[in-house]
Amino acid sequence: MRNLLDLAPVEADRLLREFAVSHGEAAYRGSQVVPHLWQKPVASFAAMTDLPKAFRERLAEHFVLPRLTLETGQRSTDGTRKFLFRLADGQAIETVAIPDDDRMTFCISSQAGCPLQCAFCATGAMGFARNLAVHEIAGQVRELALLDPPVRATNIVFMGMGEPLMNWSAVDVVLSVLNDPKGFGIGARHITVSTVGILPGIEALGRRKEQFRLALSIHAPSDALRQTLMPVNTKYPLAAVIRAAAAFERRVTFEYVMLGGVNDHPEHADQLATLARECGAFVNLIPLHPGGAMGFTPTSPEMIARFARRIRGHGVEVAIRKSRGKDIAAACGQLRVERLRRRPPAGPDDDREVQVA
Ligand code: SAH
Repeated sequence: MRNLLDLAPVEADRLLREFAVSHGEAAYRGSQVVPHLWQKPVASFAAMTDLPKAFRERLAEHFVLPRLTLETGQRSTDGTRKFLFRLADGQAIETVAIPDDDRMTFCISSQAGCPLQCAFCATGAMGFARNLAVHEIAGQVRELALLDPPVRATNIVFMGMGEPLMNWSAVDVVLSVLNDPKGFGIGARHITVSTVGILPGIEALGRRKEQFRLALSIHAPSDALRQTLMPVNTKYPLAAVIRAAAAFERRVTFEYVMLGGVNDHPEHADQLATLARECGAFVNLIPLHPGGAMGFTPTSPEMIARFARRIRGHGVEVAIRKSRGKDIAAACGQLRVERLRRRPPAGPDDDREVQVA
């Protein structure tokens, strides 16, 4: 049984056209299935009622459309919604839907857990289980489109659980599913891949012809400090990450979580601005989401504003991110961590095939 939801739309189209012909149907009958996968998704072949019944039955004999099980959903007073999905092997992942004016941004997960162990991040604290498959990443968007009423994404950020560029082979296909007009048809400029700076992944993303956006989790403007917050810095130090950002043809964004008394001194702003100028980056200052890993306090809003002004004083564009979904613990990894306290994890360490940074 072939899983159609692990394929880029063009591949699915080719396969389904061949399948249609080999089962005595016109090729276009195969193409007719494709919009039902992502664009106007349906739960089963039986629901593809614009296709002949016999053909739907043949499809169901040869292909599967695996679902993710929606276990819990929570809604914040600010309209942000958070969803916990259970996967076939028991792993749990989370997705956040953030409405803002006419936009609906989905924050999606690319791994179950995360191997990176950033000191302030709740996902790192839970350890790493495995990479997600294409249908488990794109499936988060599909499942929300299948809700009644549907929740549809206009923007996607890979800022849920995991490090997308350590799961490039799947993320590469997911980007096609998200962007292809026969997939979700979301503009490449509305799709942001966020990374700690996995160099081969940044290069691979840079080779894609579409204008996907790149966000870099910098969080500290010197190797000495970054090392203490992000162990991955040993493998991919700042200078190399900044070089990769400069070589990336599109504009990049720096993500900088404000950690009280740790990375929020005026000289940090100066150093950060210098790095941003080196690669033409836009700086996004992120208020620390309480409930991440222990031991950090948020920088006050006044201090964040002052930090931002100092960066702007260097001629670097900077924004302060609005914190969303605080009341439902919608920060990276928080939902799953909350639930794991009540229910023991389903063997998070049984697949270590993926190389840790
Ligand atoms: N691994 C990728 C994507 C997932 S994290 C990356 O690190 O970029 C998405 C963003 O959320 C990152 O910038 C991460 O550092 C940030 N983040 C993690 N924990 C946070 C917290 N407690 N408060 C605010 N932002 C946090």
